[in-house]
Amino acid sequence: MNKPLSGKLALVTGGSRGIGRAISIKLASLGAKVLVNYSSSPDAADETVRNCVEAGGEAEALGFSVGDSAAVDQAFDGIKEKYGKIDILVNNAGISRDGLFIRMRDEDWHKTLDINLNGSFYCARAAAKLMLKAKQGAIINISSVVGEMGNGGQVPYVSSKAGLLGLTKAMARELASRSITVNAITPGFIRTDMTDALDEKLKVEHLKAIPLSRYGEPSEVASLVAFLAGPEAAYITGQVIGINGGMYM
Ligand code: NAP
Repeated sequence: MNKPLSGKLALVTGGSRGIGRAISIKLASLGAKVLVNYSSSPDAADETVRNCVEAGGEAEALGFSVGDSAAVDQAFDGIKEKYGKIDILVNNAGISRDGLFIRMRDEDWHKTLDINLNGSFYCARAAAKLMLKAKQGAIINISSVVGEMGNGGQVPYVSSKAGLLGLTKAMARELASRSITVNAITPGFIRTDMTDALDEKLKVEHLKAIPLSRYGEPSEVASLVAFLAGPEAAYITGQVIGINGGMYM
């Protein structure tokens, strides 16, 4: 079988569950060795690793919080020492602290920005140092449709996801001369723990706003990530690509 990512080393942040797990499995099935990052769910990360192996690939779990700059640098020092490179970075780790913004606590604002936006910056900065030397690489940032269209009750989350779009475009310009691509994906509502936690009434409302009348699957996001990480997407950089069932056009 043709495996377009053979020989590539990928890091998927928040690979322990949900969309990150699906991305890890997809990249591994296409031949990449996948480092499955987790923060608080080591057992779930181990399960993702097993899933990657079952899909015919190679993977290992790598625990650190993306919101901790020193921990990120330490993890990348380890990657450099062991592998000497990183080919694909998927900034997928994310959290949401929802509520009316006038009542939003500083700590919820900072926590969301720390993980979703700062964490992506820390990981991309460390990965880019290795990619620049190799003169190749792909960085894929998982933003959100709400980063494009806004959403009441999610001010910190939306701000972090909109920030990721700026980060994507600025990094894409800075890294393009070394053939490193940087793109953002903006999923709509995808079936994971994050969306399972939503109020039932809200879920019904969301479905009304989705022309394709269903939630997306993590595997559908994973397929788009795999395309952007692969050789057929070498001429795509600085783009924001929606996968949202048509809810934002
Ligand atoms: P999820 O099921 O809640 O999983 C979140 C993942 O992020 C977990 O693997 C978690 O790992 C990891 N994570 C959280 N804090 C972390 C930290 N400090 N360091 C490293 N990893 C951390 O979420 P999901 O629905 O799969 O979402 C994945 C990404 O897609 C997020 O960025 C989310 O914003 C984005 N997204 C999701 C949807 C959706 O509808 N589901 C839509 C648009 C965008 P641990 O459990 O190990 O902490």
